[in-house]
Amino acid sequence: MPRPIRDLLNDLNTIYSEVPAFECKPDCSACCGPVQWSLIEEVNIQRYLNQKHMKMRIKKLVSLDDPICPYVNAEHKCDIYPVRPLLCRVFGVLNNFRLVCPFMPAKQTLPDEKWKEWQSRIHKLDEQVPKSVKDRAMRRREKNEPS
Ligand code: SF4
Ligand code: SF4
Repeated sequence: MPRPIRDLLNDLNTIYSEVPAFECKPDCSACCGPVQWSLIEEVNIQRYLNQKHMKMRIKKLVSLDDPICPYVNAEHKCDIYPVRPLLCRVFGVLNNFRLVCPFMPAKQTLPDEKWKEWQSRIHKLDEQVPKSVKDRAMRRREKNEPS
């Protein structure tokens, strides 16, 4: 029997809660460049936008050619910080040369394997997203519209 989307989102938040906290420099968005998220993360972000009644529409997956994440606001803060995807959470704490915070490199102690494990668990959640939710997300991507 398919699991309700609520359960999948709870599991996603469990994964997020396992990522060590990282306190950024105030008003810094230096690393907020191209970012990608999975389907379940996209659903999570869209729900947050809906709950906050933010007029903002979920942005399309950011192209790797885009220099700046579309969620960086005018104050250099993240508009979706509570639901930011895994990639944003591991930046600066993961021992990976591609995700180096130039201001606090000493905090990069988390083994790369941990990131792979979380990615794999998120991928499994993606596979369980009900078809109706998946179809809606695909339509939204095509039209760039909120659900
Ligand atoms: S991880 Fe580093 S570069 Fe990125 S926003 Fe935080 S302080 Fe700035
Ligand atoms: S989602 Fe937020 S934290 Fe992640 S890159 Fe975009 S602005 Fe930065």
